[in-house]
Amino acid sequence: MTLNLSHRSSLMIQSEIRNMSIECERVNGINLSQGICDLELPLPVRLGATEAISGGINHYTRYDGLPELREAISRKILYDNGISADPDKNIVVSGGSTGAFYCACLALLNPGDEVILFEPYYSYHVNTLLAANSIPVYASLESPTWSIDFAALERLVSPRTKGIMINTPANPSGKVFSRGELNQLAEFAVRHELFVFTDEIYEYFVYDKNTHLSPGALESIADQTITISGYSKTFSITGWRIGYAVCHEKWAQMIGYVNDLIYICGPAPLQMGVARGINELPAAYYQSLCQQYSHKRDKICSILTEIGLEPYIPQGAYYVLSNVKNLPGSSSKEKAMFLLNRTGVATVPGGAFYADAKGENLVRFCFAKDDDILDEACDRLLQLSL
Ligand code: PMP
Repeated sequence: MTLNLSHRSSLMIQSEIRNMSIECERVNGINLSQGICDLELPLPVRLGATEAISGGINHYTRYDGLPELREAISRKILYDNGISADPDKNIVVSGGSTGAFYCACLALLNPGDEVILFEPYYSYHVNTLLAANSIPVYASLESPTWSIDFAALERLVSPRTKGIMINTPANPSGKVFSRGELNQLAEFAVRHELFVFTDEIYEYFVYDKNTHLSPGALESIADQTITISGYSKTFSITGWRIGYAVCHEKWAQMIGYVNDLIYICGPAPLQMGVARGINELPAAYYQSLCQQYSHKRDKICSILTEIGLEPYIPQGAYYVLSNVKNLPGSSSKEKAMFLLNRTGVATVPGGAFYADAKGENLVRFCFAKDDDILDEACDRLLQLSL
């Protein structure tokens, strides 16, 4: 048979996260590799969805989402993010933020267009760009503060550069981009006429004195920014697949058409659940989310420090990269496998977040776990110090 896979599929990276989850099941371990939050979903979200199912909201919605959800997003994005969005023109509800980003790439990027991406990156961003036949170009965030080298950024620009991707708070580094950094990035994006894709799925997971800021709220880049977010993490509904893109109507319309083509629409009753959650949950819900997760962060980071796997304390999101240079193995995969076989705790090898070898002394722990499970994982990790 002469049939073959597409050229594009040979470029895509197999998700190391899925691989580690399989390895974890094999040893019946604790999976701190995948970003699944096993916390309870909030009651209004659940009731909103179940009542929608019983009430007959089970059909295709408008291609860009139910009005109830677009209106809820419009209100929330004004109050929480400082972005003004008309529910009829600027918002596209999609199959998770993953779907929203894919639709945005297909709508806005041509084959061969380059998009600058910060390393360590979230591998789905890379693969989505590749799926759209675009080219990811990597800019390093330098540990331990994950600072941006603006001079190096400048050198990455070519005539084909069409966009820059920001992920704040970031997976896996936990970096929360500061106002100063965003202002500089905005100046850069204006000067080079770039789309700014910004994935803010962890917008409600910020710790200590850090504040989440949306690049799309900056006047100078408002029209060229595609703000992408969703409720998988905030409402612990990763399987529901509700996310969105917010942007100028010139882009939103085509992103919406692509969304129609790929998904037709987001799941109708689940859109109602998310709308109800946004409308009814008080500010205290989001504050408590931060408190709970910051407690989990502190717990795992103190254990990692204790066993000599120096953690890079995250400012946001719910992952921690830790330095595993002291573990045996010649690659981050071998080190992660050593950790799994010795303690039963699955992590993601740092190599999964870099295009080159910079991640080989890192592994990523996800701390979005029930306290009992996280405690058990911490107990197991302590065996390393025995
Ligand atoms: N963006 C980032 C940075 C993520 O870490 C994840 C989940 N791992 C997603 C997007 C996926 O979000 P969604 O469920 O909305 O597609």
